[in-house]
Amino acid sequence: MTNRIAYQMAEELRKASKVALFSHVSPDGDCIGSMLGLGLALEALGKEVYMYNSDPIPRNLSFLPGVEKIQTELPAPFPEILLFVDCTDLQRVKLENEVFPADSLILNLDHHISNQNFGHINWIDSQASATGEIVYALIRLLDVNLTQDIATNLYTAILTDTGSFKYSNTTSKTHQIAGELMDSGINFADIHHHVFDRTPQAKLELLRRGLNQLQILAQGQFAMMTLHKFDFEEIGAEESLGEGLIDHARTLEGVEVAALMKEVNSSVIRVSLRSNRWFDVNKIASHFGGGGHKRAAGCTLDMPLEEAQKLLVQKVEEELALGRSC
Ligand code: AMP
Ligand code: MN
Ligand code: MN
Repeated sequence: MTNRIAYQMAEELRKASKVALFSHVSPDGDCIGSMLGLGLALEALGKEVYMYNSDPIPRNLSFLPGVEKIQTELPAPFPEILLFVDCTDLQRVKLENEVFPADSLILNLDHHISNQNFGHINWIDSQASATGEIVYALIRLLDVNLTQDIATNLYTAILTDTGSFKYSNTTSKTHQIAGELMDSGINFADIHHHVFDRTPQAKLELLRRGLNQLQILAQGQFAMMTLHKFDFEEIGAEESLGEGLIDHARTLEGVEVAALMKEVNSSVIRVSLRSNRWFDVNKIASHFGGGGHKRAAGCTLDMPLEEAQKLLVQKVEEELALGRSC
């Protein structure tokens, strides 16, 4: 999609001398890869770039070129342009109460169907498999040379949000872009290895516990996995190691909806939701104040674990009973 908004965003970035890039909490390959890919491209254009994420970078993304540039402190002062990648709203960056300088220009680059259009310029493409696809288009528009470092980041962004090009968000355009990125000389086999094939032992331990606590509900259509705070503590696993475990629930034969309930503390439960063929998990996540896509979404419930489980099961069962939603 190269439309008026895209040109407008590129034009603003061309004019700017300093840009701050922001990516969401509990970071994933798309938000980090998109931020780094764009950050390196803007640096190549001679911009001063600040890249922010409040949380630790997951271990399997620590190989990404430029990752050491990501800051956990907010820029002070805020530069003229504040650009958000892969964020549905400012809450996803924990900046909903931040007062930005009156002259800041907020740019919003995202592919979530539930995006809140919180920017002055909102480039939202819910057909894009990953924000990385949109960043790719922006970089092309900015006429920046696609270096191996930039391409490695964008390839990782797309690779992770499409589950290795297998989720239904994958399009022929996704493959075309991946092809262009491969042509820049990236070592894609090495990227796959770094991202997927170095499972830390702690993650396997988490999976062991998650499987022990797996509940199969709604006549086998709904699989809910739970991880307590003490599971993470006893194993010595950081929260990001829970990423991907939900697929062990989702891929069970007969399952349409899967959930992973992660107890952050006694009154904060982070919920990941996935569906396979027809159930709209964004509808469930949005109902609880979160968001995402039809096949992958999330929300945070501020209540004890058991209460959260009860509420979620009730809502999912209610929606399953209504039948096909998308
Ligand atoms: P996750 O289960 O954390 O991998 O998230 C699945 C998808 O839902 C990703 O595209 C997230 O960006 C999105 N998502 C997760 N949590 C939230 C939330 N609280 N608000 C909006 N989108 C979310
Ligand atoms: Mn994301
Ligand atoms: Mn994404």
